[in-house]
Amino acid sequence: MILIDGKKVAADIRSELKDKISQLKAEGKNVPGLVAIIVGEDPASQIYVASKGKACEEIGMRTKTEKLSADISEAELLTLIQSYNQNKDYHGILVQLPLPKHINEDKVIETISHKKDVDGFHPISVGNLVIGKDTFASCTPAGIQELLIRYKIETKGKHVVVVGRSNIVGKPIANIMLQKAEGANSIVTIVHSAAKDISYYTKQADILIAAIGKAEMIKADMVKDGVAVIDVGINRIDDPTKIKGYRIVGDVDFENVSKKALFITPVPGGVGPMTIAMLLSNTFKAYNLYGEK
Ligand code: NAP
Repeated sequence: MILIDGKKVAADIRSELKDKISQLKAEGKNVPGLVAIIVGEDPASQIYVASKGKACEEIGMRTKTEKLSADISEAELLTLIQSYNQNKDYHGILVQLPLPKHINEDKVIETISHKKDVDGFHPISVGNLVIGKDTFASCTPAGIQELLIRYKIETKGKHVVVVGRSNIVGKPIANIMLQKAEGANSIVTIVHSAAKDISYYTKQADILIAAIGKAEMIKADMVKDGVAVIDVGINRIDDPTKIKGYRIVGDVDFENVSKKALFITPVPGGVGPMTIAMLLSNTFKAYNLYGEK
């Protein structure tokens, strides 16, 4: 069994980007920039945004965080986004979700220029992904594909079964794997909560991608020998032996499924670290495609 080390791959990606940015600086060129906009005081969102900012700084990317009060109006937020759409120093715009209830998230996402949509949530990015045009794929699914590529896991003609159909993981990773492209070209099945017997589908998977949000739901008798397992889930379960009283597990029963799998991602340390790495990578791509050098 090969353990897929997302921490290492993410570190490699950051280091590759750091080298490219150093090169730009040495040539006296503008560097890629990412602005993160956060509304309100949600502690989890504050932590996410801080870690994204730190990751940018570490690779020499320009970064800025706009911290806005929870009672900012939707109109004010949209005006701020529009100003960053015009700003030549920031090539990626990230609005941390969720937003307060009085702000329409769809409107916010659609106001971000699709040329700066490094989260890949804009309908133009989603549409381009579906029709197979080069675009910004959302970061977690893009990270999953990167893991498959870097671990040289054959995808062409293989049966990829995705459990979960959310707009941020399930649907985009299914669309990515369906494309006639390197690291894809797969036969794709998407399973969701309406399936009567999900194991009927999961047992057929050469590559199983679990994005369910249910702790350790995928058991060993639900997969075939030699499967490659990508576990996206992040779930807290009670564990009195831990100081915090809980531990984090994925959607896959790692201990038992890993005995049958050829490749498997751990949780934590698998898909999780890839999300920020791909955000940086998408920002670099936005700079390359549309930035003034
Ligand atoms: P979500 O929006 O809640 O979607 C979960 C999907 O799983 C839904 O499509 C749901 O089906 C399906 N599902 C739920 N119970 C099921 C069952 N018993 N059988 C079959 N399908 C079932 O979750 P998400 O945002 O995609 O996230 C999934 C997990 O990944 C969560 O644990 C989340 O924390 C984690 N995550 C991790 C990262 C990362 O960076 N590593 C990023 C994003 C998410 P229906 O559509 O029918 O309801």
